[in-house]
Amino acid sequence: MMGNLKNWWKKRRRRSKVGRVIAVESMTAIPAKIGADIYLVRQGDFDKRAVLDCPCGCKRRIDLNLVRTQYPVWAVVSKKGSLSLNPSIWLKDDACKSHFFIKCNKIEWVN
Ligand SMILES: [Zn+2]
Repeated sequence: MMGNLKNWWKKRRRRSKVGRVIAVESMTAIPAKIGADIYLVRQGDFDKRAVLDCPCGCKRRIDLNLVRTQYPVWAVVSKKGSLSLNPSIWLKDDACKSHFFIKCNKIEWVN
């Protein structure tokens, strides 16, 4: 019973949408509080990292590598201000265990 209630609260505070997609030149340009936005660290024509706060509300910073020669790597598709990331993002070692896809600025929760 308590477990179900906790789960219900957890799911209620989850985000379902990405805010703004903001390109910056370095990690140091990313603010301490990101909120719903996603930051892309862009050098020249290349996106190197995607940085966001966990959309479950746990405030964990998620920092994804976008450079193909490093592993693990995510592919970012950004069209007219809408962003998709592949594969899914799974915080299996974190307390929240969030697992979600970002597709066209929507957060699709797996678990
Ligand atoms: Zn979380």
